Amino acid sequence: MIFDHGITTHKRREMIDISKAVAGDIKTEGLNDGLCVVFVTHTTAAVTINENADPDVTRDMLYKFKQMVPENENYRHLEGNSDAHILSTLIGCSLTIPIQNGQLILGTWQGIYFVELDGPRQRRFKVKLLKG
Ligand code: ZN
Repeated sequence: MIFDHGITTHKRREMIDISKAVAGDIKTEGLNDGLCVVFVTHTTAAVTINENADPDVTRDMLYKFKQMVPENENYRHLEGNSDAHILSTLIGCSLTIPIQNGQLILGTWQGIYFVELDGPRQRRFKVKLLKG
């Protein structure tokens, strides 16, 4: 089974903590030990793990993403969102997280983030749980 989540984004670029949704899937499936794969089915969004305690961390990351990959360069792609395509590949579209005793093995300050890079939009992400 693959869990299919809808998510509404509100800004062009933002990071949304999806840790609780992913943990909920593990509970629903009743999986004790295994692996969790989180996958984003978009070319202008991404998924990553980073600090979920201080909101300034995601703010600073978004600030630096914009500096690293400016919105308006000499891009050719007619849709006008090449920056979002580039960042999607740099950040990545999937994560693999170990599960032990029914819990994601995340560090104290780690959260799973859906990264919107060309919003606002209706988005989806998938979660696949593997036993073993
Ligand atoms: Zn495009």
